[in-house]
Amino acid sequence: MIRKNDKIELQITDMTFDGLGVAKYSDKDTESFVIFVKNAIVGDHIDCHITKVLTKHAFGIIDKIIVPSPDRITPACPSFSKCGGCTYLNAKYEAELTYKRNAVVAAYRKNYPFPIPEISPIVPSAEIQEYRNKVQYPISQDGIFSFYAKRSHRVQKINGCILQPKCFETITSVVEKYIQTYNISRYDEESGKGLIRHLYIRRAPATGQIMICIVINGKELPHKAQLVAQLSKIENVTSIYYNVNMNKTNVVMGKECVLLWGQEHILDELCGLKFRISPLAFYQINSTQAARIYTDVAERAGLTKDDVLLDLYCGIGTIGLTLANKVKDVVGVEIIQSAVENAYDNADLNGIKNATFFCSDAAKTKKAFIDTEFEFKPSAIVVDPPRKGLDAETIQLIKDFAPKTLVYISCNPPTQARDLALINENGEYEIKEITPYDMFPRTGHVECLTILSRKDV
Ligand code: SAH
Repeated sequence: MIRKNDKIELQITDMTFDGLGVAKYSDKDTESFVIFVKNAIVGDHIDCHITKVLTKHAFGIIDKIIVPSPDRITPACPSFSKCGGCTYLNAKYEAELTYKRNAVVAAYRKNYPFPIPEISPIVPSAEIQEYRNKVQYPISQDGIFSFYAKRSHRVQKINGCILQPKCFETITSVVEKYIQTYNISRYDEESGKGLIRHLYIRRAPATGQIMICIVINGKELPHKAQLVAQLSKIENVTSIYYNVNMNKTNVVMGKECVLLWGQEHILDELCGLKFRISPLAFYQINSTQAARIYTDVAERAGLTKDDVLLDLYCGIGTIGLTLANKVKDVVGVEIIQSAVENAYDNADLNGIKNATFFCSDAAKTKKAFIDTEFEFKPSAIVVDPPRKGLDAETIQLIKDFAPKTLVYISCNPPTQARDLALINENGEYEIKEITPYDMFPRTGHVECLTILSRKDV
């Protein structure tokens, strides 16, 4: 029997989806117990301290590394062990890529009970540091913008972050100084009291334009003229907003954004097109890798000028607009109104005439079409939903449309594989490719592109 606080020697042989080392353990009275070890990687031989025991598995931490994995490296960030952002800073990048591809293989093995082609090699990210174009910092009670500790909502003091642009640090220190100077209250998640909740910064890599948004638990930002005077002097800052979020929730942004200074949008370029991005609109955080996926879709999805394409969960229109010159028509569906407005602007900005957008829940797409007497039957569908994947209604919508081509881009391969198993329960589709992309280097997340074709066409 394994008990809490036991010390046992283990060999790490695998990784979980969220980056815990996995070891199998058995002794004369314990048969095949699985132990998950924080900060351990494949190849580590360790003394493990058991912290929690359940029926068939247990959790532990490293007490001592007896023999380090050949893939183990010194983390490039001194805060690695306490910050919740990175998962694989202790492993060589090649090893991280292997873990992530293995995670996609495991996700399909577990959730997709039909034949699949061999999962393609993972596409590495061009940059593994400073690739993030957006950061949302929570605030600590002493007025510092930083990051949450691993698996918690406790703000840890961390000096700099290697995943984000260096220029963000100038902005955080200006806002911290303003909070200190005017003694502005900091939001406390427990009590729901305090004004400043988050600082959100987004940078368009192609133009360098920076948007700053201060999220507040109130309707007014005090001494805003003084803050704007300081922030607007920073190189490349082109938009300053505050956002009102008075809900007691983990969701960072509220619905109302108030422009304090500068332009409503920042402008970026992706796949040769220009994109305006407003504060509430989603935009992939690793733009170079996003462009790579969209280019691969354009080259490999087999779209033709006869195709009519439905881009579900379209955001500001990035995928549909980059594919617009391959197909007859594009229709995008997105739930955030300001993102839909961006999508229309972005079509105009790029002289694209064959794209239309709807603000609707993806599941209600048919109703949105009927309400506007819009006749549209897609021959190809692209879906790019949030982590939770598709709901039953959206799965049914896709089955009803029965497109000849289906492209599913996901930041959560287990839900992707699960959804595709439901869409393809009668075996009408063949998966042409499953390609993992490292969109979020050094973290536990992996993006996955899956392209399917209907067998009867
Ligand atoms: N395809 C875009 C956005 C993908 S992110 C891109 O690559 O940039 C997922 C998008 O789905 C977000 O824009 C989010 O606002 C939107 N969304 C979330 N739930 C939705 C729903 N139920 N119906 C339609 N859109 C939704």
